[in-house]
Amino acid sequence: MLRIHDTRARQVVQLQPGRMVRMYTCGPTVYRHAHVGNLRTYVLADLVRRVLERRRVRVLACRNVTDVGHLNDTGVDKVVREAEVEGRSVRELARHYEATFDADTTALNVRPPEHAPRASESVEPMIELIAALVERGHAYALPDGSVFFDVRTFPTYGEISGNRLEELQPAHRIEAVDPRKRFHADWALWKPAEGELTWDSPWGRGFPGWHVECSAMALRFLGPSVDLHLGGIDLRFPHHEDERAQSDAATGHEVVRHWVHGEHLLFDGRKMAKSTGNVVLLSDVTAAGLDPLAVRMAFLEHRYRQQLNLTWDTLRAADRTLRRWRARVAEWAESPSAPMAGEHVARAEAALDDDLDTPATLRVLRELERDESVPPGARLESFLHLDQVLGLDLSADIGRAPVLPPGAGELLESRARARAAGDWKEADRLREELAELGVRVSDTPEGQTWA
Ligand SMILES: [Zn+2]
Repeated sequence: MLRIHDTRARQVVQLQPGRMVRMYTCGPTVYRHAHVGNLRTYVLADLVRRVLERRRVRVLACRNVTDVGHLNDTGVDKVVREAEVEGRSVRELARHYEATFDADTTALNVRPPEHAPRASESVEPMIELIAALVERGHAYALPDGSVFFDVRTFPTYGEISGNRLEELQPAHRIEAVDPRKRFHADWALWKPAEGELTWDSPWGRGFPGWHVECSAMALRFLGPSVDLHLGGIDLRFPHHEDERAQSDAATGHEVVRHWVHGEHLLFDGRKMAKSTGNVVLLSDVTAAGLDPLAVRMAFLEHRYRQQLNLTWDTLRAADRTLRRWRARVAEWAESPSAPMAGEHVARAEAALDDDLDTPATLRVLRELERDESVPPGARLESFLHLDQVLGLDLSADIGRAPVLPPGAGELLESRARARAAGDWKEADRLREELAELGVRVSDTPEGQTWA
């Protein structure tokens, strides 16, 4: 069974699921395209799900869509602000970026969650949760219609991130300097407002805070016990601390059993951010002629708790491996079937169970690819079996007439010339280069052929 790193426990823990695992992943704020760094978290959630399902555990997944309440550093709703910039309605903007997010995750073979609630359509459970917190003395409502969480009523605040309440310094953010708060680290559960995207509540018209949205949706769609809660490492504090405080204070018990965080992704050594101009979208990857699953492959080449420095070179290398494996799988599919290579598959699966050691799993596949002592039919079955978890569409080329990958045509021509000139060394070198691209060259009396 899967062992995974629990941020709050600060160690790798053995999951002990019943027949079902309830998993919540903090979803996108739909005010712009998700970049490949954002998408890493969702591939992680998909991987956890697939590893568990291989162990016959049913996974009930919930991944929200934040279309209201996520404020920027100046206290303005990100979706509302971007709608103004782009000159479209808030709803139109949010639905547009939700659709592009769905298309991106689908292209990455991330299976859709059972529940994908929009925050704007789940306000009722949020109001109920806030009311419960007020009633239990964990939140206070002010005459202006705002409600704040009273963080000093939740003594174990900070257990996930290690940020102890007494050590927290007021940050220079609008939330922190708000004089209405009893304590600087208190946060807004409900904000008074009028206009589009506001709702009536017992405290007046307004909208919910981002943190309380996730607590309410997790409790509504997964129930009072959540086995796994996933998100990017940047959400650890304050978002997940606040979520934990709200959910636990409202229910009176520890709602989330394990908190799991995926590390950051860098591109060309820098954090992916609009301000530094190095945002890479999945559409940029496909526009460069690469398969979108090359991104998934590049993610799998690293452990989820490692910071990943992606470059165009690593993406192109991942794309080449992907195409080569698909070509090999298609070629092996022509051979008689044979049972899986049991020892290889067992090692690959053990690596997945070991806190998702995907690089080790890929190493086993590379070994198997080259191991001529294993019958092709057995290599085929092993690759297809493991692809159920890896999600790389390795069977995509089976039965398809082989198509030369980009650049292979030129290499074949160069090789024909080298052979004609009697330059066997160069011909051999080109044969290896072609093999790297998944093209197997054979020499026949009629000249070279490829498959
Ligand atoms: Zn969340």
